[in-house]
Amino acid sequence: MSQFDVTIIGSGPGGYVSAIRCAQLGFKTAIIEKYPTLGGTCLNVGCIPSKALLASSHHYEELQHFADHGIEVSGDVKVNLTKMIERKQAVVDQTSGGVKFLMDKNNVTVFEGVGSFESATSVKITKNDGSTEIIESKNIIIATGSKPSSLPFITIDKERIITSTEALKLKEVPKHLVIIGGGVIGIELGQVYLRLGAQVSVVEFMDRIIPGMDAALSKELTKVLKKQGMKFYTSHKVQSVERNGDAVVVKAENAKGEIITLEGDYSLVSVGRKPYTEGLNAEKAGVKLTDRGQVEVNDHLQTSVSNIYAIGDVVRGAMLAHKAEEEGVLVAEYLAGQKPHIDYNLIPGVVYTWPEVAAVGKTEEQLKEAGVAYKAGSFPFRALGRARAGGDIDGFVKILADAKTDEVLGVHMIGARCADLIAEAVTAMEFRASAEDISRMSHAHPTFAEAIKEAALAATGNRALHV
Ligand code: FAD
Repeated sequence: MSQFDVTIIGSGPGGYVSAIRCAQLGFKTAIIEKYPTLGGTCLNVGCIPSKALLASSHHYEELQHFADHGIEVSGDVKVNLTKMIERKQAVVDQTSGGVKFLMDKNNVTVFEGVGSFESATSVKITKNDGSTEIIESKNIIIATGSKPSSLPFITIDKERIITSTEALKLKEVPKHLVIIGGGVIGIELGQVYLRLGAQVSVVEFMDRIIPGMDAALSKELTKVLKKQGMKFYTSHKVQSVERNGDAVVVKAENAKGEIITLEGDYSLVSVGRKPYTEGLNAEKAGVKLTDRGQVEVNDHLQTSVSNIYAIGDVVRGAMLAHKAEEEGVLVAEYLAGQKPHIDYNLIPGVVYTWPEVAAVGKTEEQLKEAGVAYKAGSFPFRALGRARAGGDIDGFVKILADAKTDEVLGVHMIGARCADLIAEAVTAMEFRASAEDISRMSHAHPTFAEAIKEAALAATGNRALHV
């Protein structure tokens, strides 16, 4: 029977990154993945394919503005969705192949099959052909991720009532896509099909889209997306989603108790994701789950069984690839006797629409609720030379700093390239910078990053220079 120091169940960003770090630290490492391709949700049906489609549809959308730049395109410009989806798949295949390369390079043994606990130190692998193999491992890391969740009265038929997985491989551009849930996934995929010509309606239970983020970001994103043609039904509770031939009929109740009916040809159900532990047989090893179905862990990501750990979407916290990666590294280093640490407050959140939305730290709503005295400084992108030169003038950067100490407590931004710009805010906050620290650092001109410096100037004595 094969023996390992560490066995990881699940090859998503949590699992495969953990495997690499374990191998780097000298552990004999195995990874078990039930699908033939590595990379989990993120690489196969999440982050990477959605960004590929966002990129392709963005190119198409930008074409509409070529004339403003003095570029005349003659002849037909049209979308070939089949080609677009094929390109997306090629990007996915290449990226997943890259993970396989990294496993081989780091001498990580890859098992294809469903991993299930036989005991706290042994895992059975059930392969696709039905054959089984049992391996022994001193330590085991559960990295089984998550699956789309739904509402109890909705039947996902995967044809017209779909999840994000199907939305990444549609065969036609919907005429009218009705999205249930205005969170990150729904809004990103909504923008893809909006750009490709679909009518897109978003039904959201809360009073705003991307409800976990600072309210100012929701407001600005709503404004921009409305300008692009997306329709919003916030504070609407979905009552039913039903097929009627090739149509999907969505009924929702607004705050006044009135029922609205939306008829589309596709409905994307994006109401969140749930931890995935099916087939894992966790109870056989004595691993406890929470009442929300997550694997219960302590601060070291250790489960109720001391040699079994869990990371990523299957445990509490933000369902984000980079959070899963940090946790994968943390467990590997903890097993090696190091003292790693994750500051969960500094895990950035990003929405990859255009304009991009990104944030780190506390929102204004959270600071108010906690009774923290803070000051805020904002700077609009439209006042930046670089934004005007490129024609990307929507959005702003907002910095929240402690009223007394000036320490940066939160940075919220919407605009071009914010997904990358947020790294500056994370770095500053990791080093506990004050808003004045940021305001005194030189930022190259002309760049979008100047908005961060200007917002920091605005937060410290209203000193912004270009407004
Ligand atoms: P997963 O990536 O879910 O991987 C778990 C793996 O475990 C899967 O491959 C599964 O097959 C395997 N598995 C499960 N059970 C078993 C078993 N018993 N035996 C063997 N294998 C098993 N996050 C971001 O940070 N940025 C983004 O831009 C982003 N975009 C997204 C877009 C979409 C459409 C979706 C759906 C998600 C997106 N996410 C994004 C979220 C991100 O994909 C997840 O947070 C991330 O994949 C979680 O990583 P993980 O390693 O915990 O689990």
